[in-house]
Amino acid sequence: MASPRSANVVGSGPNGLAAAIVLAQAGLRVRLWEGQGTLGGGLRSGELTLPGFIHDLGSAVHPLAISSPFFCTLPLHAFGLRWIQPELPLAHPLDHDSALLFRSLDETADHLGPDGPLYRRLMEPLVEHWDDLMSEFLRPLLHVPEHPLLLARFGIRALPPVTLLARMFKTKRARALLGGLAAHSVLPLTSPGTTAFALMLGGAGHARGWPFPQGGAQALTDALVGYFRFLGGEVTLNTPVQHLRELPPADLTLLDVGPPALLELAQGRLPESYVQRLRRFRYGPGSFKVDYALSAPLPWTDPQVGRAGTVHLGGDLASLTRAEAAPHRGRLSGAPYVLLAQQSLADPSRAPAGGHTVWAYSHVPNATQQDALPQLEAQIERSAPGFQSLVLGRTVSSPATLQASNSNLVGGDVGGGANSLWQLLARPVLSAQPYRTPVGGVYLCSASTPPGGGVHGMAGYWAAQLALREFR
Ligand SMILES: Cc1cc2nc3c(=O)[nH]c(=O)nc-3n(C[C@H](O)[C@H](O)[C@H](O)COP(=O)(O)OP(=O)(O)OC[C@H]3O[C@@H](n4cnc5c(N)ncnc54)[C@H](O)[C@@H]3O)c2cc1C
Repeated sequence: MASPRSANVVGSGPNGLAAAIVLAQAGLRVRLWEGQGTLGGGLRSGELTLPGFIHDLGSAVHPLAISSPFFCTLPLHAFGLRWIQPELPLAHPLDHDSALLFRSLDETADHLGPDGPLYRRLMEPLVEHWDDLMSEFLRPLLHVPEHPLLLARFGIRALPPVTLLARMFKTKRARALLGGLAAHSVLPLTSPGTTAFALMLGGAGHARGWPFPQGGAQALTDALVGYFRFLGGEVTLNTPVQHLRELPPADLTLLDVGPPALLELAQGRLPESYVQRLRRFRYGPGSFKVDYALSAPLPWTDPQVGRAGTVHLGGDLASLTRAEAAPHRGRLSGAPYVLLAQQSLADPSRAPAGGHTVWAYSHVPNATQQDALPQLEAQIERSAPGFQSLVLGRTVSSPATLQASNSNLVGGDVGGGANSLWQLLARPVLSAQPYRTPVGGVYLCSASTPPGGGVHGMAGYWAAQLALREFR
């Protein structure tokens, strides 16, 4: 049987890189085309504020990358990747104290007091079977499971809205912790499926941590690119591909793009029925991001928060629920949920001596042009009063700025499409092989395909595996 000899990969995000590596490992000549001047898509770093301060343009915190069944098989260490584990994965300041997520499940359960036993019962099975769970979860939902009981047990717990799960907990701490974790879904917290995000991210914190690549997110991209080049892969920058016909002939083409870009790239080659299905794909709220260069660490009222790599701001569960509903109603929240990372506390290489980097964003209506900076800064100020006096430089990225730096971030949606239950199944269309497009040899491999957003490379991995199988 014939084997494919060459492939094009369009887009160098973590999924494009994963796909390119799988194809190169299979012996193909792989050419990677990137529209921007730097590689990595949502996995890049640079001096966004002042010289010597290294900020992450997209992702900062990597529980999924360190848990990725594919990345774990790659010799990324040999290509310079070092994971930095902050002392605590996560802190969530409240008015009088903070909810803390420790690496240790026991310590976290102790910290949650009367809610500890229930928290332990919820997390323990996930932590014990983490690798199996990841191999089930980081792939299309529609598949024959290798661990059906584990998946069924997880599914039953994960389906309800987090607001329902939280009713089983007595303390403000536990409820806020779960709400803040679930808010990574960018769904209203009353939506079904939000519990899945809380369990997965909480479980990841205990099983693998929430690490940063030393030197910035770019270091993970650089390691992936280094290995790809070692396998013989070729890279071309500054080449936004407008249509498939611009690419050199190849047996396979993998596209690290979303549905709107696929409609352009394959214009004239897609059947109308598929075009209509792609047009039904929906994006979620956008993000409003700010990167800070600071002259000192954030002055948290609760010093425990300074031990954490990631901080969730937004107060108790009721406040978080209001905050996360707002962008879905087309409004800015007056007191938003803010996701914040303080990388330089654990990785001094990120800033000149004495300086610090902070990465923060809130969820806003898709493509909004409203200024969400005052609300975001008020949330930081609430838990770290006086922080403004430490700001040496700041760079604000609106949804439009984010999209200009990476066309996959449609309207500032950083997850490649809304995480509604329907789109967890139909991503981007309902199909047993959602990566396949109707154009022969052309596959989608971005976060708009399963398992969705986040840095894990698994969409690229599964798309490339399918492409190889179908060619053969
Ligand atoms: C602000 C922000 C914060 C985030 N935080 C986290 C986090 O902390 N942890 C986490 O796990 N995830 C996080 N994410 C999500 C994560 O970065 C994405 O889910 C992930 O990068 C998606 O990978 P991808 O390969 O599908 O696409 P992308 O990373 O979006 O890469 C797509 C690439 O394709 C290129 N491209 C697109 N169209 C074309 C074309 N026609 N021609 C040539 N090139 C093209 C783009 O320029 C881009 O480089 C964050 C994202 C953002 C933006």
